[in-house]
Amino acid sequence: MRIDIITIFPEILQGPFSESIVKRAISKGLAEIYIHQLRDFTSDKHKKVDDYAFSGGAGMVMMIEPIAKAIDFLKSEREYDEIIYTSPDGDLLDQPMANKMSMYKNIIILCGHYKGIDERIREHYITKEISIGNYVLSGGELAAAVISDSLIRLIPGVIGDETSALSDSFQNGLVSPPVYTRPREFKGWKVPDILLSGNDKLIDEWKFEQSLIRTKQRRPDFDNK
Ligand code: SAH
Repeated sequence: MRIDIITIFPEILQGPFSESIVKRAISKGLAEIYIHQLRDFTSDKHKKVDDYAFSGGAGMVMMIEPIAKAIDFLKSEREYDEIIYTSPDGDLLDQPMANKMSMYKNIIILCGHYKGIDERIREHYITKEISIGNYVLSGGELAAAVISDSLIRLIPGVIGDETSALSDSFQNGLVSPPVYTRPREFKGWKVPDILLSGNDKLIDEWKFEQSLIRTKQRRPDFDNK
């Protein structure tokens, strides 16, 4: 999978892709991430990419021309499955959406800033708008990192234990059961006996039951899905 991210703050995106699972996916050649500085696509001599909103009001708006040029350039190089704009009023990112998008070959993620982007970009270039939650961020970079991470970890071969990503919360409509590691006892707090029993069948049943209980208690909105 190839992800092209368009941003005016490329530095914000250095950290999330340089450690752990995403880093490994990139070094194995299973994912490619290219971060593009939007300012490289403006013909303005001061590299300006934002302007005052028509009709006034507080806050700047990202201009149409540099964004259009950046997307046109990328589209002239290859075909994209989706051109995504990160937006608080977009579709809420969830696991089924991540599963579907993890099968894509090429995507663009456009990060907004200030008051957002000129609406005409959304109308004429953007094919999907994604929100990572019902709150407002300062820019789309953190959302782009979250979206990319959620997709990349699902690409076959990225996570060592193939079943691991599938046993995560939400994959079967349930949240994960609790997990424990050594020591068996700490400050008198014990690991449930069943997990130490060595009986795989009973352990699997216990885990499933815990998932059901937790989903009911914590995420009733996911129950019976
Ligand atoms: N005025 C806009 C918010 C702009 S916030 C509004 O009220 O909808 C600046 C940028 O941050 C947005 O253009 C968007 O790209 C990004 N952003 C903010 N919150 C986000 C969220 N919850 N999910 C995804 N992107 C978000």
